[in-house]
Amino acid sequence: MKDSVFKFDIEEFKIGKLTKKDIDFPSFYGLQKVKAPIFVYRASEEVSPCLVITACLHGDEINGLSGIQDLLHSELKITKGTLIILPVVNIYGFLNKLRYLPDRKDLNRCFPGSSKGSFGSRFAQFIFKTITKYGDVFIDLHSGGPGRFNIPQIRCDLHNQNILEMIKNISIPLVVNSSLRDGSLREAINDINKPCIVFEGGEGLRIDTTINKYIVNLIESTMKYLGMIESDFEYNLDKIIIKKTKWLRAKEGGLLYNSAQRGEVVKKGEEIGEIKSISGDLITKINMENDGVLLGMAKTSMIMAGDALYNVGYIDDDFPEEEDEMLDYFDLEM
Ligand SMILES: [Zn+2]
Repeated sequence: MKDSVFKFDIEEFKIGKLTKKDIDFPSFYGLQKVKAPIFVYRASEEVSPCLVITACLHGDEINGLSGIQDLLHSELKITKGTLIILPVVNIYGFLNKLRYLPDRKDLNRCFPGSSKGSFGSRFAQFIFKTITKYGDVFIDLHSGGPGRFNIPQIRCDLHNQNILEMIKNISIPLVVNSSLRDGSLREAINDINKPCIVFEGGEGLRIDTTINKYIVNLIESTMKYLGMIESDFEYNLDKIIIKKTKWLRAKEGGLLYNSAQRGEVVKKGEEIGEIKSISGDLITKINMENDGVLLGMAKTSMIMAGDALYNVGYIDDDFPEEEDEMLDYFDLEM
C-alpha cells in the first residue's frame, strides 16, 4: 500500500470552517479508487487541541455515522483547535454491509498495523498514522452487531488516570470499565499515551436517532472540556459506572420472547424472558443471576443454546469474579 494513496495534510484545510474532502482509499485489481469522506474543522493555526472522531471501523455499525451527520448539521462553532472526523473508516465493509475488511480481517483487531502485514494490517497502519499524527483525544463510535442492540455507553479503562479525569467532564449516562482488546484502535492509541474512548450504542445495519443525541452530547461536551467550543449549555454529567459486565446465555435453544426493557435495572431472580418451542410451549425461563442493568440484548428471536442474550452490567461491587469468557465477535462489539 503506497503512502501516496492516502494523502492527508492538515494545511490543505482552511481555518475557520468545516471542510469535507473525499479521500482516495486503496483500490483493488487496478479498478477505480474507492473514496471515503473526511471532515476537518480547523478553528486556529495551532492544530491542538485536536479531537478525532472515527466511525464504521466495523462497516455495518452505522449508527455512529448518523450521529456524526446530526453533529455536522448543527450550528457547530469551534473556536480553538481542530476537529477531524472519519465517518466511514471501513468503507469496504460499509459498501458490502459487512463488519469486516475485504480480506475477512476485523480492522479493530489489526491496529496499530504494519506496512509489511496483511491487507488489514496495512490498512490499519494507514489509518493509525494519519489520525495519530494530529489527534490528542480520540472517540471511536461503534454499535452492537446486526441483531444486537446496545444502550448508549462508553467503554474505557477506568484505571487510566487521564481517562478518569476526562470522564468526569463529559456527558454520557453510562460508563463501562473495559480492558483493552488486542489489536483494537483503543489499545494502539493507549500505547502511545493518548486517551481514546469507545462509544457503543444502537444496532448494526440500523439507525436509531435517539442514539444520535448521546453521540452529539458526548462529542460536544468533550470539545467543551478541551476548550474547543464556548458553550453555556449545562451538559448532564451524571453517570453510572459499571465495573464488570457479563453475558447471560441461553441454556436451551428455541424462540426468544423478551420481557425486559433495555437499560432497565433488574433484580436477581427476576424473569426477563422466555424461550419457547415451535409449538409455543415453554422450554425455559430466563432469570437474572445477579442484580444488574441491561446494557445490551439480542434482537434476534431464533436462539441456539449458548447464544449471548443479555449483556448485564453489575452496578454493585459484589459481582462474581470469574475468568473472562471466550467471546465471539457478536458478544463484544467494540
Ligand atoms: Zn464495532
